[in-house]
Amino acid sequence: MGIVVAVDGTSGSGKSSTCRGVASALGLRYLDTGAMYRAMTWWMLEHGVDVHDPAAVAARCSEPTIETGTDPAAPTIHVDGVDVSGPIRSPEVNDAVSPVAAVPEVREQLVALQRAHIDEARAGSGIVVEGRDIGSTVAPEAPVKLYLTADPAARAARRAAEEGGSDLASTEASLRRRDEIDSGRAASPLTMADGAAHLDTTHLSLEQVIDQVVSLVRA
Ligand code: C5P
Repeated sequence: MGIVVAVDGTSGSGKSSTCRGVASALGLRYLDTGAMYRAMTWWMLEHGVDVHDPAAVAARCSEPTIETGTDPAAPTIHVDGVDVSGPIRSPEVNDAVSPVAAVPEVREQLVALQRAHIDEARAGSGIVVEGRDIGSTVAPEAPVKLYLTADPAARAARRAAEEGGSDLASTEASLRRRDEIDSGRAASPLTMADGAAHLDTTHLSLEQVIDQVVSLVRA
């Protein structure tokens, strides 16, 4: 049976690059659950839904069809057949995604999709899944669980570089705002899951983090 590696942590802690690297090194699939919440948020904004009105979001969240490709070398995300891999990283989506992800009906729907991917990958070699609630809620039975963090300044610097040199102060403020909402929400808040290994990536290179995680999975 394929292995499941659950990776949770704060925004900008290096989860995505780490998970893709680990999945590629070990021949596993890769699932970016944050991209699914971002895709749902993009659809809500496109359709003029007030993202700060949980009832409005809940009423429409079953409408979009969200499809995720799990090849770590080229992950994809489509909403109703449209490639949204660029638009889901916009500042508008960054600012709206946490309130949308706090809506229980949204979580229920996306967690079901995530579990379907995990079940499929279990029949093969396995999958690395990244998010906020993977080790606690989506796949609590995962044999390897990690919790990645980094200092806010390091996280902002990495994210700003990824976004092509956006303003550091506003990037850091946006990350902190998201972490606050993600940690304080009632439904599946961001917390370290039972049995998770904590890895602070502030002073580590991407290669060092990948090596450490690969060693943990192989142990
Ligand atoms: O990982 P990323 O930063 O792209 O996630 C975007 C947002 O999606 C998070 O800030 C959080 O609000 C939400 N999310 C979540 N649960 C997950 C993954 C992401 O609530 N498993």
